[in-house]
Amino acid sequence: MRAAIFRGPGTVEIGDRPDPVIQEPTDAIVRVVLSCVCGSDLWYFRGQSPHAVGSIGHEFIGVVEQIGSQVQGISPGDLVVAPFLYSDLTCPHCRNGSVISCVRGGGFGNGDADGGQCQAVRVPLAGATLVPVPGSGHSEQTLRSLLALSDVMSTGHHAAVSAGVSKGDTVAVVGDGAVGLCAVLAAARLGAERIIALSRHPHRQELARAFGATDIVAARGAEAEQTVLDLTGRIGVNAALECVGTEQSIATAFAIARPGSTLGIVGVPHGQVPFATTFFRNVGWRGGPAPARLYIPDLMTDVLAGTIDPGRVFDHETDLEHVADAYRAMDERRAIKSMIRVGSL
Ligand SMILES: [Zn+2]
Repeated sequence: MRAAIFRGPGTVEIGDRPDPVIQEPTDAIVRVVLSCVCGSDLWYFRGQSPHAVGSIGHEFIGVVEQIGSQVQGISPGDLVVAPFLYSDLTCPHCRNGSVISCVRGGGFGNGDADGGQCQAVRVPLAGATLVPVPGSGHSEQTLRSLLALSDVMSTGHHAAVSAGVSKGDTVAVVGDGAVGLCAVLAAARLGAERIIALSRHPHRQELARAFGATDIVAARGAEAEQTVLDLTGRIGVNAALECVGTEQSIATAFAIARPGSTLGIVGVPHGQVPFATTFFRNVGWRGGPAPARLYIPDLMTDVLAGTIDPGRVFDHETDLEHVADAYRAMDERRAIKSMIRVGSL
C-alpha cells in the first residue's frame, strides 16, 4: 500500500509499506478515508522531537474492512473515528480515565506500526478503540469535523476540561494553531463567557472569532501578558489554555492565570513550568495528552447535530501522493492544518 514515510528531519515522502493484515483476534483493518498532519508531526519534521524512520501519522477516519474474531462493537463497512492512541478500556489505567496510559495500548505511525497517513491501518484492540459513526450520507464538512475528533478537537477540549472551564468563565487561549483554535471552540461549548485568543495572524484570528473568541490579543510575550491583565482588570483569567508548548507560551499562560486557578496544558512541552512562581500564586496545571477515546462520543454527537464544526481548521488539502506538500504547507505556516484525502467512502 501507499504510505507516508518519515525519512528524517525535513523529509516525509510517499512510499510503499506492506498491506496490513489481521495479526491478533482483537485487530481490525481500516481503510483510511481522511487523514491529516498533526502539530506534533511538525515537531518531528523540524527535528525538534525524535521520530523513528518509517510510518508516520496518527489522525484518521476510515471504513472498517475486516475484523478479527474477537472484535465486538464494529462491523465491516462501518465508518469509524480512530483516536490517536489505541486502548483496551478495561485495564486499571483505562478504568481510572487515563486511557493514554493503557497497559496494552500504543500509538499509530511510530515508524513501525501503521500510521494514519497511509491507505490502510491495522488497529489493535479495535472494538474498544474505534468509535463508529452513526447514520450515513454525511456531508464533506461533517467528515472533516469527524476527522478533527481524532486528535486536534479532543486535545483542545482536553485543555478546556483540564482547566475546569465552566459557564461564565473568562478564558485565554495561548496558541493559534489548530489545537488552540479548537480550544477556543471547546471553551465556548463549555459556556465560557469571554474568550481571549492570542493570535497575530488575521486568517487565524478570523477563525478564532468564528469559534467563539470575544477578544483578540495580537501581541506576544510580556506585551501580551500586560494586555490580557489589562483586559481582565489586572485579575487574570479563570482558565489559561496553553496550546503551543514553547518556553515563551508556557510562561505567558502562567503569567495571565489568576491566582488560585488551574491551567490546561496540551502543547507538547519544550519548555519548563515556572515551579516556584506558580507555587506562591496557588496556580496549578493539568493536561497532557488527551484521552481522546473518552471525549469522541460526546463531541461526535455535537458534530452530527451541527453545533460544532472543528473541521474548519483544515485549510489546506492534498492527496496521499502529495503528502510532502501537506507537511511543507504547515511548516511554512501557509496552512493552519493540512488534510490528506486518502480514499472515498
Ligand atoms: Zn487500558
